[in-house]
Amino acid sequence: MRYVSTRGQAPALTFGQAMLTGLARDGGLYVPETIPTLSHDEITGLAGLPYEEAALRVMRPFVAETFTDAELEGALARAYAGFGHAARAPLVQLGPGHHLLELFHGPTLAFKDFAMQVIGQLFQIELARQGRRITIVGATSGDTGSAAIEAFRGLDNVDVFILFPHGRVSDVQRRQMTTPIEANVHALAIDGDFDDAQARLKDMFNDHAFRDEVGLAGVNSINWGRVLAQVVYYFTAAVSLGAPHRQVDFTVPTGNFGDIFAGYIARAMGLPIRRLVIATNQNDILHRCLATGRYETRGVTASISPSMDIQVSSNFERALYLAYGRDGAAVAQLMDELKTGGGFTVSQGALQALREIYASGRASEAETGATIAATLASAGELLCPHSAVGVKVGTEHLAPPVPMVTLATAHPAKFPDAVEAATGIRPALPPRMAEIFTRPERVTRVPNDLAALMRLVRERRRT
Ligand SMILES: *Cc1c(COP(=O)(O)O)cnc(C)c1O
Repeated sequence: MRYVSTRGQAPALTFGQAMLTGLARDGGLYVPETIPTLSHDEITGLAGLPYEEAALRVMRPFVAETFTDAELEGALARAYAGFGHAARAPLVQLGPGHHLLELFHGPTLAFKDFAMQVIGQLFQIELARQGRRITIVGATSGDTGSAAIEAFRGLDNVDVFILFPHGRVSDVQRRQMTTPIEANVHALAIDGDFDDAQARLKDMFNDHAFRDEVGLAGVNSINWGRVLAQVVYYFTAAVSLGAPHRQVDFTVPTGNFGDIFAGYIARAMGLPIRRLVIATNQNDILHRCLATGRYETRGVTASISPSMDIQVSSNFERALYLAYGRDGAAVAQLMDELKTGGGFTVSQGALQALREIYASGRASEAETGATIAATLASAGELLCPHSAVGVKVGTEHLAPPVPMVTLATAHPAKFPDAVEAATGIRPALPPRMAEIFTRPERVTRVPNDLAALMRLVRERRRT
């Protein structure tokens, strides 16, 4: 299977190449040339399997050119061994027809561990095979960075640099990035917001000489390998609610569109997902786009769900590419308009294609807090603010008898201030994580300046 760029101008790659490359050289994102399907019987057969076994069956057709079954099996076993729950992605019921998929039992307590831990293992196998070293540079609004550091720290052939917006991540998120002691971990606090961090990251990737010089690789949510690993829990959740014999809806707290796009892939593989509901906070560019057809940046307003504080949603480009019938030239033009004019209008045909699959909603700050309190009262479940955005929007989209699954994307203890403000309860970190509050922090403050960042990466990376 080959992977092609959403902008149509970069070479087609294997899974291994696409994974190590991240952003395509034409600025686009990699998507599979064709999406493999699982038969009705194969989907039925996933019911009741251990998570790792289901993951093997779902991911195998996408990676077979690069990894043997035994390699993938080993990588999955190591990736999920450190999770704090035997089911990995347990499903709990919130109310009639509404279920919560708990994706926060990994080592950094956010759903990003599901993919990052797998990517870490797969990178290690592939780099050792090729005898290569790479420099991973990532931009984070909080959770990606800690998940990446946790997945790559201490690996011989990798340096990992993480840019996070100074002063805009929670204490737990920051400490998860600044307290690891391994010499290959470099936490960088940038003077700017998440979009600045992401823009500088893209600039580094678009400087092809620099990219080759330091062996730059990306693990942001644009990395196809991450999307793929996230496809798995849509299958395990839906199957446990009766798929493929029954349809299921999903609501996904959304920022960069990686998680919900994995749901799209699951659907394209044959899982009977009826609707994918995009839940946004007050930074609602995606909700406005679905509603009006106009994708328009308006700057970022800091919220209590900071991992969704974006104005440009990178993976939405993949959804556009498919909605435009895989027309890379059309997508390249939209992205150009976005860069030069701050927005674009989706064609009628593409908008209709998007609306057949995706619905959307938003939650204000007050609604998010109220949902945390209401869900604690009605179901005894303490939600993080991101998950609360999802539950608020998911509740609005309940359509019995189709069950709704809302993704819980982080543990409440990662965002204790917002949870305490809403409920009066300060959620405790699981005991295995308490030590991050006693360890010294190691972080470099950096300006929002490309040349300075590139200099720092050159100096710090081990060769
Ligand atoms: C990253 C993140 C999101 C948004 O996920 P995307 O794949 O970027 O849409 C939502 N909630 C939490 C807790 C996250 O860390």
